[in-house]
Formats: sequence, structure tokens, C-alpha cells
Amino acid sequence: MSLSFDPAAVVMPQAHFIGGERVAAADGITLHRPSDGAAFAGCPVADADVVDRAVGAARRALATSGWSRARPRERVDALHRWADLIAAEAVTLARLEAVASTRPVAELIRFDIPITVEQIRFFAEFADKEGGDLAPTAADSVGMIATEPYGVIGAITPWNFPISMAAWKLGPALAAGNAVVLKPSEMTPFATLFMAELSVRAGLPAGLINVVLGDGRTTGAAITGHPDIAKVSFTGSTGAGAAIMENVARTGIKPMTLELGGKSPQLVFADADLALAAGAIARSILANAGQACVAGSRLVVEASVADELIGLIATHMAAIRPGPTWDEATGYAPIISARQLGRMESIVGATLAQGAQCRLGGKRLDRPGFFYAPTLIDGVDATSPAVAEEIFGPVLTVQTFREEEEALALAEHPTYGLCAGLYTRDLSRALRLSGRLQAGTVWVNRYGRSRDHILPTGGYKQSGLGKDLGREAYLANRKSKSVLIAI
Ligand code: NAD
Repeated sequence: MSLSFDPAAVVMPQAHFIGGERVAAADGITLHRPSDGAAFAGCPVADADVVDRAVGAARRALATSGWSRARPRERVDALHRWADLIAAEAVTLARLEAVASTRPVAELIRFDIPITVEQIRFFAEFADKEGGDLAPTAADSVGMIATEPYGVIGAITPWNFPISMAAWKLGPALAAGNAVVLKPSEMTPFATLFMAELSVRAGLPAGLINVVLGDGRTTGAAITGHPDIAKVSFTGSTGAGAAIMENVARTGIKPMTLELGGKSPQLVFADADLALAAGAIARSILANAGQACVAGSRLVVEASVADELIGLIATHMAAIRPGPTWDEATGYAPIISARQLGRMESIVGATLAQGAQCRLGGKRLDRPGFFYAPTLIDGVDATSPAVAEEIFGPVLTVQTFREEEEALALAEHPTYGLCAGLYTRDLSRALRLSGRLQAGTVWVNRYGRSRDHILPTGGYKQSGLGKDLGREAYLANRKSKSVLIAI
């Protein structure tokens, strides 16, 4: 069966989802399809009252359903049933996502949705396995380190991988016994809403997942500042992360997990398998047209192999298959919005105006929608806007080095420390440098997440606070309590 479809035939659920029901809302923000620029829907904007209703529904669900108090295996089973339903409804989910977002339908069906299903199952299994601890106290007492859910988690997600990002928040929060009020990005809210509806069909208590649509300033701020939101779990830009910290500090203190921006280096040494490195580097900057927090957007290569490596990367970049996200053959994504495309052009323009050279691309693709050509820029340094700023697009800068220390110095970014790639056949160097690179994840002779969901992801420096995925993400959704019993 072909995965291609007619985007005009997909009806977007323009509503909030509160207490297990759709709550109709007026169109707020006009949305344009990234693939062709056509206006296709409006995103309602929940105000503080709507957010308050959602938080109330979440609290009631926790109080009445026994979600956090029942036998933990019941949570495991319920989450597996939800994962089953997400898999069964993959086509509907993929269509809702492909119209609004930059994710091509074939990639959604082959990667985003199966991985999401896997990750929900991964987190579900912690519920009846991960417990507290008995502490070594004096013999006249028993000390327990118990863990318990926070209550209602406020989750906020970005537009770049909407389904996956929702699962990263919902999976561990629910497995750990919490309820959630989730605000997806105002640009891509519809698939997340449908996912939440599926949870109720799968038998999860109504009100356990509430989805409120809206922007950051109104809806997002109402969530992070709500007194009954016990914890904030956010993925998005470093700027928005800072605004959330400020709002939380102003309205009351609560824990938060922040997964923020990146500007990750790819270090290639002359002894590396250059064909392997070129493939991994090209995929990392072409995947979702570079709109990934982990995009390896700064190539730092040993001077003696720079030309050969750049030639190999350019060959990959020339082989892209741009097209609308609803066409099965599409392999290269559009940019999310005209605004983001304009921002990219201005950063590239400012970099070239400072004397950098564009080796490839550097312009929009001549086709409908918001497409930007894969771009290679060299002649840059740490002050070049394309090196300093997270572009969030298919732009790779090139810097060269002669010595290992120089490579490390170039890899360092003053603001970001999300990931780093390292390509070498020298095992000692791989171990030495992976210890010294200031990044939350280092990939050696590969780049990008695997399906080993046990590996946590999160940033150093201003790339974030806390981790998603892994055991750490599950534990981050429970708070610990010390109990000391005299005997
Ligand atoms: P963004 O920060 O503009 O928005 C993210 C979400 O936050 C949206 O839902 C938005 O409405 C909301 N928001 C914005 N301001 C807010 C505020 N003051 N209070 C509450 N909510 C607010 O980011 P984006 O453009 O949607 O996504 C791209 C960014 O996300 C990039 O910086 C990227 O690196 C980052 N990202 C990080 C990870 C990670 O795991 N570290 C993963 C994906 C994306």
C-alpha cells in the first residue's frame, strides 16, 4: 500500500483534550503547511482558565483512578495497550503529523512511530521493577529511601519531532505514576492530541493525559506557573528554557527537566574511515533538514583530509530527495516556517558577509513550500554567526585543525554542550577525547541516537538540565523520601 496521501483530506482535531474529552476551541494561530506554504488549520490558544481545568482534571484522575497506587503491573499493562494502539493507528497518526510538520510520512511510519511505541514500552517496564532502597542505618532503626510520583507533571514539547518528544515526556511520567498536562508546539499540535485520545481508548484513566494547545507566552507560562503543577518537563530552545526558569522562580519553586538547544561538533581525524564519517555527518545534518537538537552542525576536521572529506559529504548532500511530506518518495524535509527560513538566510548571509565561503547551497530550493538547500560553509571561526548560533537547518560549517588540542579547542562551544561526534581508528584517542569533550553524549565512529533507549540524553552547559530517556528519565519522574523507623 502506498503511504502517499492527499493532505486536504486530513481533518485536524482543533480542540484541547481535557478529562478524556475534546474541548472545542476557537482557531487561534493560523498554521501553514511547511511542504507547500498553504494555510491549513488554526491552533487554539488555551488561557490560564483552560490550563487550570486541565490541571484539575489531572488531579481528579490521580485521586479517583488509583493510577499511582494500584499494583504497578497494571500501569505496565495499560501502557503496553496504549503502545499497541499507537502502532495500530500509525497511518492516521503519521498523516496528522506529516501535514503540519516537517516529518516525511515514510520516515514517520518507518522510524518515528515504531520508535515511539518502543520507548513507551521501555518506560512502562520500569513501573514494576525500579524501587527504592534500604539504607544502612544503626541497628535500632530501619531506614528506607522510598520513591513516589510527583503528581501532575507539566510537559512542553517542540515542533521538530512532535510524536517522539511527546513520548519522551509521557512515557516516563505515566510509568512513574504521574498524570500529565502537555502542551505541544503551537505549530504541530494535532498528532499529540490524537495520541492522547488513543490513551483513553486503550483504557488509561480519562484525565491522566490532558493536552492543551497554545503558545509559550500564554499557555506555556500558565502551565509552568500553575501551583498544582509539581514538576516541569520541557524540551525546546535555550531561550525558552531560561524564560521558564524565570517564571518558575517567580511563581514558586519546582523541579524541572530542561532539554535545550545544541551546536554539536563532529571531530574527524585523518586516521578515520572517511567514507563512514562522511555518511554519518551528512545524515546528521540532512535528517529533518538539520532541524534536530543533536544535528552535528560544526565539522572540525584534520587539515590533511579536509578536502577529501568535504567532497564525500557534498556527494551525499547532492543526493537529497526533497518533496512534500505527504509523498512517500520524499527523503528531504522542508523547513518548519517562512520565519525560520528567513532566520536561516540571515545567519548564513551575515556569515558570508564576514568573508566565509559557501562551498555548496546557501539558498532556498526553487520549489513551493519552505525548502533550504544543504549548505557547506568554510572560512569560518568561532565568531562567525553560523558557528556561534544554533541555526536549526541544513547548514554545516567547516573548520580545520592540525593538533589534537586544537581540535578540542575548536570543538568547545561557549554556550552549548549537547552532543559531539568523534571519528578515529585510534582507540586510545577515542577514549581520551570522549572523556574530555564537554557534551552530554559523545558518539564515536557513528552519529545519532540508536534504539538503545537505556542511554540517557541531555546536555552539558546551557544545552539542558537533567535527562530524557534511560533509567534517569524514569527516576526523574519520582521524588525520593527518607523514612526512618525506630525498632
Ligand atoms: P521553542 O523553545 O521555541 O518552543 C518549544 C516549546 O516551548 C513550544 O511548545 C513553545 O510553545 C514553548 N514555549 C516557548 N516559550 C515558552 C515559555 N516562555 N514558557 C513556556 N513554554 C514556552 O523551540 P522550538 O522552536 O519548538 O524547537 C526547537 C528547539 O528545541 C531547538 O533549540 C532544539 O535544539 C530544541 N530541542 C532540544 C531537544 C533536546 O533533547 N535537547 C530535542 C528537540 C528540540
